[in-house]
Amino acid sequence: MAKQEFKAESKRLLDLMINSIYTNRDIFLRELISNASDAIDKVYYKTLADENKNFNKEDYYIQISVDKANRTITVEDTGIGMNKSDMEDNLGIIAKSGSLQFKKDNEIKDGFDIIGQFGVGFYSAFMVAKKVKVLSKSIDDDKAYLWESEGIDGYEISESEKSSNGTIITIYLKDNTDEEKYDEYLEEYKLRSLVKKYSDFIRYPIKMEVTKS
Ligand code: ADP
Ligand code: MG
Repeated sequence: MAKQEFKAESKRLLDLMINSIYTNRDIFLRELISNASDAIDKVYYKTLADENKNFNKEDYYIQISVDKANRTITVEDTGIGMNKSDMEDNLGIIAKSGSLQFKKDNEIKDGFDIIGQFGVGFYSAFMVAKKVKVLSKSIDDDKAYLWESEGIDGYEISESEKSSNGTIITIYLKDNTDEEKYDEYLEEYKLRSLVKKYSDFIRYPIKMEVTKS
């Protein structure tokens, strides 16, 4: 698929996001964890609504992995996943919250736990990423898709392979410059402290794995 452009408003917002709104880059991890948690909550919600399905708690978790040699961080969930049109709708338009829509579509009242609704969370990844890949398989689709973007220029979606439902988000960390250093996000202690800080409200286990070389 040819490169898709972000909508004009989205471009401005993405630019703002990367360059000014948040001075605290750490929050990218909170946003990715909360999206992962929302994705699992959505499966939970759907299985509650379907008496033929069971929600086995052991199958649902969030896995954070770091590959130091390749300077990548991945956040994986076993949640609802996204198909191609979900990716176009939810990752192609900044400030459009798929979770707010999910709440509306399913007439979920405020008490339900889904965290997202503002719709800029995912893009905070670009505060630390030069490239982001989203590999996902929806519970409603046989095929898996890969969404890739290097930020403001747009994104591409292609068919891909993934055996189980859910989403793997890979952050390719920005290169260090004299002014800005990003390597701290490859350090286990840093990530553990962020997970601790931001995961109080997450009801699913968060696993962590660091590959050194
Ligand atoms: P919000 O969480 O406020 O809706 P985000 O920018 O954080 O906004 O995410 C945009 C949308 O992208 C989400 O609402 C959801 O539809 C989709 N999305 C993001 N991350 C995931 C994920 N890990 N699994 C499934 N869908 C996701
Ligand atoms: Mg979110």
